[in-house]
Amino acid sequence: GKMGFHEGKKSQKPHAVCIPFPSQGHINPMLKLSILLHSKGFHITFVNSEYNHKRLLKSRAPSFLEHNFQDFIFETIPDGLPPIDADATQHIPSLCFSTKENCLAPFRELLMKINKSSDDDVPPVTCIIFDGIMTFAFLAAQEIGVPSVSFRTTNACSFMCNKHLPLLIEKGILPLKDESDITNGYLDTIIDCIPSMKNLRLREFPSQIRTTNINDKLLNFIMGETEGASKASAIIFHTFDSLEFNVLTDLSFICPPLYTIGPLQLLTDQLPKNSLKFLRANLWKEDEDCIQWLNLKEEKSVVYVNFGSITVLTKKQLMEFAWGLANSKKNFFWVIRSDAVVGDDSIMLASEFIQETKERGLISRWCCQEQVLKHISIGAFLTHCGWNSVMESIGSGVPMICWPFFADQHINCRYACCEWGVGMEIGKHVKRDEVEKIVREMMDGDEGKKVKKKASEWKKLAEEATGVEGSSRLNLDKLVKDVLLSNY
Ligand code: UDP
Repeated sequence: GKMGFHEGKKSQKPHAVCIPFPSQGHINPMLKLSILLHSKGFHITFVNSEYNHKRLLKSRAPSFLEHNFQDFIFETIPDGLPPIDADATQHIPSLCFSTKENCLAPFRELLMKINKSSDDDVPPVTCIIFDGIMTFAFLAAQEIGVPSVSFRTTNACSFMCNKHLPLLIEKGILPLKDESDITNGYLDTIIDCIPSMKNLRLREFPSQIRTTNINDKLLNFIMGETEGASKASAIIFHTFDSLEFNVLTDLSFICPPLYTIGPLQLLTDQLPKNSLKFLRANLWKEDEDCIQWLNLKEEKSVVYVNFGSITVLTKKQLMEFAWGLANSKKNFFWVIRSDAVVGDDSIMLASEFIQETKERGLISRWCCQEQVLKHISIGAFLTHCGWNSVMESIGSGVPMICWPFFADQHINCRYACCEWGVGMEIGKHVKRDEVEKIVREMMDGDEGKKVKKKASEWKKLAEEATGVEGSSRLNLDKLVKDVLLSNY
């Protein structure tokens, strides 16, 4: 290092400031990446929103914030939204607009504070890793003259789709002509103008395109952040080369240097015991007893059901899933967040459903998904196809039953089912008979056999990518050397 404030005394470690978008599916991968960089000798400042920080304290995420690591520091900035109850769910679109409009100033101040710190253990900031939808942070990095990297916590395919939204507008395919286009089959239009992605349907593009207003704020947010990512010194994708080879190749012609680093969890798993790999940042309190329950079940006999941190079900959907699972007669472990159902879910929890399934079903509010997916008794994952869930599933070799809900989940589902062969899709208008049938097919049927085989093949490829000389591992080292330390 060359810029020590008190030369000789001040810590000379490189210092990465990591700022995730403040929702669970963005915090998790950023935390893993930060832990990896920490293991490579970086001092880390991890920036949470004040709101999430409070929730983390409350959920008592294992080992989180109780430790005071000298070289892995948690800082907070406000997210700019009016204060709400710590149990209430934050509205993601509002959070998008708010972070974009309000976070640059406090982030800048935080960087100043760090660089002026008289604490000998706090080295000056040498690089910034910002979430792919927090591109305002690029400006702050530029102002203090350090390299910055955009971390897309989604995959390359969805980025490729986003990148071509202006083309779809130019061609007159978007915006929708009429609200009825959402249901009249228009979304089945085949889109063949995206490099290396053939036969896409319009419905597989981010759900934010489903608007008749070309000035729609969310649509423009997505396009703006996609464009913004291209300014960074590099882009990280949470994926691995063999999974998205063609799309990555085509993207590399139109983007800053790309680094595929994933599945992250396979990389952190390799770290030694004395690393920070045990750090987790759950916004909900984990149910730890589910593991004991899983221990008692037969190998690959349990359907794990979890729709992530944002999805909200109607009571009707909840009931269809519930009775589909019950009628399948399979074991299931179902996580229903306290805020996962419109209104409340007491109807179901009190119903004969519980009576019917008490031998073979477990319901809880939140779990350590990584641990659950690795458990030997899990046979399939009924998922909303959030990208972290898909990567965690692929990394654990668990086949998926896919029920995409919004945003990039449709394209993730398409690739999981049609390109990688590791999933089966449930129709949007979920019906109990269909749930029952697909669960049985996955657990006992011939189609299920094929999907399971593919899932274990992709697991091997994920392990290769993260093994010695694997692309993800090499890319991490290359990113550190060529970008993160380039100014150090
Ligand atoms: N997760 C978890 N426990 C749960 C539900 C989710 O640990 O009960 C984690 C999951 O492992 C993943 C993240 O929360 O890392 C959810 O991200 P994803 O991209 O799958 O979906 P999102 O919540 O963003 O829709």
